[in-house]
Amino acid sequence: MAKSLKKYSFIHFITIAYLIAAFSWWAILLYKKNEENYQLRTSIAQYENSTDTALINEKYQKQKNMILSEGLFFGLSILVGLMLIFRAFRKELEMNQTLNDFLLSVTHELKTPIASLKLVNQTLRRQNLSPDKKIDLLDTGWEESLRLESLVNNILTAAQIEQEYTFNFEKVDINELITQRSNRFSKLYPQRKISFGNTSTLIIEADKEAFIKVIDNLIHNAIKYSKEDEAIEIETSKSSNGISLQVKDTGIGIPTHESSKIWDKFYRVGNENTRDNQGTGLGLWITKEIVTAHKGLIEYKRNSPKGSIFSLSLPTPR
Ligand code: ADP
Repeated sequence: MAKSLKKYSFIHFITIAYLIAAFSWWAILLYKKNEENYQLRTSIAQYENSTDTALINEKYQKQKNMILSEGLFFGLSILVGLMLIFRAFRKELEMNQTLNDFLLSVTHELKTPIASLKLVNQTLRRQNLSPDKKIDLLDTGWEESLRLESLVNNILTAAQIEQEYTFNFEKVDINELITQRSNRFSKLYPQRKISFGNTSTLIIEADKEAFIKVIDNLIHNAIKYSKEDEAIEIETSKSSNGISLQVKDTGIGIPTHESSKIWDKFYRVGNENTRDNQGTGLGLWITKEIVTAHKGLIEYKRNSPKGSIFSLSLPTPR
C-alpha cells in the first residue's frame, strides 16, 4: 500500500470514528430529550387530570420511531458516502502508482536501446573488426531500433485510441495477414519456432493497420513471456457466426488472480523488481480496444500444462 494511502487511511479512520461517535451522541441525546419530554408531559397531564395521555403516548412513540429510523438512515448514508470516497481515492492512488511504474519502464525501455545503439556505433567505427563481428553488431543495432520503434508505436497508438481513432474497415484475408506477420517475427527471432499453417482464405472486416497491431502484440507477448525453446502456435478457424483466432504459448502464463487485470491500461503482472521483461503495459489494452471496435471478443485462458492462450473471436463480415 502506498505511503500516502496509509496516511490517508489513518485520517479516514479517525474521521469516521469521530463522525460515528458525534452522531451517536446526538442521537442518544435526542432520544433522551424525547424521553424527558414525554415524562414531563405525562406528569403535567396527570397533575391537570387531563385525558390527553393517549395522545401524548402516541406522539412520543412517533418521535421515538422517527429518531431511530432517520438516525439509522442518516448514519448509513454517511457510511456509504465515506466508503465511496475512500474507494475512489484508493483507485486514484493505484492509478498513480501504475503511471509511475509506466514512466519508469518507458524511461528504461528508451534508455536501453539508445545506449546499445551508441555502443554499436562506436564499436563499428573501429577498423579492425571481422565481417562476422560487423554483421553481429548491425543485427544488434537493428533489433534495438525495432524495440524502440515498437515502444514508440504502442505509445502513439494508445494516444490515437484515446483521441478517438477512426477505423477504416475493409475486407481483409486474416490468414494472409497472420502469415505475413508471423514470417516477419520468424525473421526477427530466427531462434523461435512460430507455427501457423492455415493458407485458406478467411475474410474479416477490419482496419488492416489496427489489426496488424493486434496480431503483433499477441505474437510479441508470446515471444517475450516464453523461453527460446518453447514453441508458439497460431490457429484460425471459421465458426457459424464468425472467425476465431488463437495465439498459444507454453511460457510463464498469467496467475489466475491477475488475469482479469491484464487488459487494464499500463497493467503489468508482478512488480518492477520481479519482472524479467521490459514492457509498458499498453499492448493488451490497445489490443482489447481494437478488438472491441471490431465488435469482437478477446479472452485469456490458461494453456495446458502451462502457458497462455489468447483467444479472439470476430463476427463474419456482412
Ligand atoms: P507489456 O508491455 O508489459 O508486455 P501488455 O499489455 O502487452 O504489456 O501485457 C500486460 C501484461 O500481461 C504483461 O506485463 C505480462 O505480465 C502479461 N502477459 C501478456 N501476454 C502474456 C503471455 N503471452 N504470457 C504471459 N504473460 C503475458
